[in-house]
Order: sequence, then structure tokens, then C-alpha cells
Amino acid sequence: KDYAIFVLDPQGYIMTWNEGARRFKLYEPEEIIGKHFSVFYPESDKKAGKPAWELEVAAETGRFEDEGWRIRKDGTRFWANVIITALYDENHNVLGFGKITRDLTERRASEQRYRLLVEGVSDYAIYSLDPTGVVSSWNSGAQRIKGYTAEEIIGKNFSNFYTPEDAAAGMPQRVLRTAIEEGHFEGEGWRVRKDGTRFWSSVVVTPIRDEEGTLTGFSKVTRDITDRKKLLDDLQRHAQELETQIAERERTNAELEAFSYSVSHDLRAPLRHIEGFAQIVLEDYGDRLDEVGKSHLLEITKASTRMSRLVHDLLEYGRLSQIELVSEPIALAPLVKRVIAEQEAPASAFDVQISPSARVSAHEPTLHQVLSNLVGNGLKFHKPDSPAHVTIVAAATADPNFVRVSVTDNGIGIAPEYRERIFRVFERLHGISEYPGTGIGLAIVKRGVERMGGRVGVDSIPGTGSTFWFELPASQDSPE
Ligand code: ADP
Repeated sequence: KDYAIFVLDPQGYIMTWNEGARRFKLYEPEEIIGKHFSVFYPESDKKAGKPAWELEVAAETGRFEDEGWRIRKDGTRFWANVIITALYDENHNVLGFGKITRDLTERRASEQRYRLLVEGVSDYAIYSLDPTGVVSSWNSGAQRIKGYTAEEIIGKNFSNFYTPEDAAAGMPQRVLRTAIEEGHFEGEGWRVRKDGTRFWSSVVVTPIRDEEGTLTGFSKVTRDITDRKKLLDDLQRHAQELETQIAERERTNAELEAFSYSVSHDLRAPLRHIEGFAQIVLEDYGDRLDEVGKSHLLEITKASTRMSRLVHDLLEYGRLSQIELVSEPIALAPLVKRVIAEQEAPASAFDVQISPSARVSAHEPTLHQVLSNLVGNGLKFHKPDSPAHVTIVAAATADPNFVRVSVTDNGIGIAPEYRERIFRVFERLHGISEYPGTGIGLAIVKRGVERMGGRVGVDSIPGTGSTFWFELPASQDSPE
């Protein structure tokens, strides 16, 4: 039914008519049998003598195949694929012709739609190559991107699009080989326009095969992504510059730190002198000074003590980045007990919730210092009208490899905007007279914990209290 199959006599008169022929040429058998097959051809073809010529070719070669417009009974056209086969007797006399016609109107329309689509695309170069790499079709995008018109490039080898270096290195052949072997080639690279300028292209090459699987050519889709590449290159350069800047800054930081460490170190001796001599004056000459003189001397002593603390803390902080912190398993409960015992506060000021089995992997002196600073702050920053209370808890975290220790107080709390800053050196939110301190304690906590492979943080409700916490690697081993 899908094929019109009928027989012509040697002169081209129709002898048989099948259902398919009836269905798409619309003639009933009795109407058409006996008529000449040229009725199916457009006038122009008839005038050109095409029907007779087709029979001649078929008679000579045995077969004729063609595609073209044919006419139905009602005068409408259809796009036909026609095969005419000569039928011979034993002596090679033509007995007639078998004719098979297929209606390809639909296929032709869809091919045409596809061609129009491809031709209309201007952002992509879409073109095809024959199996040897010779350009066989060319769309408007290809013309726009590469600069050649279809007439100029069809029939030329696609290696023209490659840079001389790539062409010399056998790149074009390699691309086709890869497409054949892997069913597909995708890549990016420099290509050359007709005017010799280069553009960065993204390319997809797909082999095309016929029904039997024989390679008939390649389709190529190329995009000009020079702008995108430029952008990416710029970004990369930028990132590199940033990295260099960061590295420089880190080096400067390290130098500054080394400098402040050595300054702090050298300040210690003259400070001890000032403290010592002020003390001697007070003790040996105190009775010869009036009250004002004595109070001035006392101020000198207090200031130098404060400076000693500062220098001590700075050295402590500097040391933390210089020494190697060797971690070992540490049981938390006994350490916290020692830290609490060192504070000037009654036992009732503390609440400890730490299981005897809670252990972390840490550098003991540093962990001691961290806990001391946090517990000390918890006691120090209490509200003027209520005594300090500090709760210390060790708990598991979502990550079984870490233990979280939190130190919660009932103190003045910290406004959200300061919660990061307070971990930096010298960042204090209060005057010395209100709450004494050097502003280095939390910086030591942060650096110490981080150097031991952990992290720190704070939660707080201003006016109610704060919870400083840190997480350190859990230790499975029992402490010595
Ligand atoms: P210092 O305690 O010597 O001032 P820190 O580095 O320990 O220095 O703390 C920095 C600042 O963070 C403190 O001056 C204080 O303003 C704030 N702070 C620290 N701990 C607490 C706390 N438990 N409650 C309220 N504020 C705190």
C-alpha cells in the first residue's frame, strides 16, 4: 500500500495498477490502465521528453532512479522517488518495465524544514564534510563565523580552518579519526577565519553513516567562544593575582608577628627594671615621700605590671604560631578540675558536666591555657549585680571524630556584631577600669584550638550570658 507498483509495456503504456498506486495517484485501475505513464509528469517534464528518456535509460542500463515532482489525478503534486526496472526476455528484448513509486512529500518537507532551520542559525557554524574532510554544505552561521561564502569553501578541505601549527601536527585528521572511533569528537581550540584572524572555538564533530553503516561524511558544529574564553582567562589571571596578594600579605603578617615577638621579648628586661626600681623606691624611700608622690609611684608600678601582662600574653600568642604543638590523648574531666582550682572563685561558682571517658587529642599546655582563658573570662564578665556562674560541658558532635567543649556564663553577653572581632588581638569591648585585661586571651584561644585541628565559636544573648565553645579531635586512646 505504501508503494505504487505497476507495469508498463515497452512504449510506456500502463498494464497493471495496484492498491498503493490507486491510493496516492487517485486513479481507479479501469481509468488508467492503457494510458501512457507520462500523465503523471508535470508539463515541463513532458515537454522536455523526460518520460521517454527515462525508459530509454532503463532499457539500456536495466534500471533508472529519480526523485521529482509527479502529478495526481486531481492535479496536485507530490514528491516522488521513482525506480524503473526493465523487464527482458531471454534474448534481452524489452518486454516492458516495472515501476515503483514512493511518495516522499513528507520526508522532503521535513528535510526542507531542517535545511531551513540549519541555514537560519547564525550563532553556530553548521556544515558537513565528506568522508575525506571536504566541505559539502555550509550554513549562514558558518559564513558569519568563518568568513567564507558557501561557493568559496564547498569543495575545499576543512583543514583550512586550522592554524598552520595544528594543521602541520595532523590535528584535522586526528579529529575525524576520533569522531569515527568514538562516534563523536568534542573540543576547543584556536581556528582561523578567511581573513587570517583567529578565534577560540568549541567544536562538535559527528560521523554520518547510511543505513548499511558506511561512513558518508561528518557533521560539524562550531561556536565562536572567544569572548567566553577571554572572560575565563581574565578570571584566572585575576585569581592568580589575588593568590599572589594573599601570599604576600601572609608573608608580611608573618614578618610583623616575628617583629612583634622580638620586640615583646626585648621589652621584658627594661620593664623588669622599671618594676624593680619602682618597688625599691617605694620600700626604701617611701617614708620620705608625701602621699601624692607615693600614689604616683604606685601608678607607675600598676602600669608596668599591666605592661608585663601584655608582653607576657603577646609572647604567649606569638609562641603559639612558632612552636610545634604535639597532640596527645587528654582526659577532659581532670584537666577542667585543675583549671577551676586555679581560679579565684568558690567551687559553687562552677557546674561541670563532663563524662570521665571524654577525651580529646590536644597539646596539653595549650588546652590548659584555652580553658583557663575561657573560664577566666566567664568569671570576669559577670553583671555588676549578680555573682558569676560558669558551666563547662563536654558533648559529642554530629561528627563522631570531634568533641565539643562549651563554657557558658551568666554574664553581660556580647552583641552579635562583635562576635567575630573579639577573637582578634587587642579587640576589647570595655575599658580597663571596667573589666581588666589585655585583649589577647581569645586570640590565644582561637589560634591554639585551630593549631590543634579544631574550631571555635560563640553564642550569646546580650544581658543574659555567653557560651564560648571549641571542638577538638576526639581521642579513642586512654591517656597515660
Ligand atoms: P580580655 O579578656 O583580656 O579583654 P579577651 O581576648 O579574652 O581579652 O576578650 C576580648 C573581649 O571579648 C573582652 O574584652 C570582652 O569584651 C569580650 N568577652 C570575652 N569573653 C567574654 C564573656 N564571657 N562575656 C562577655 N564578653 C566577653
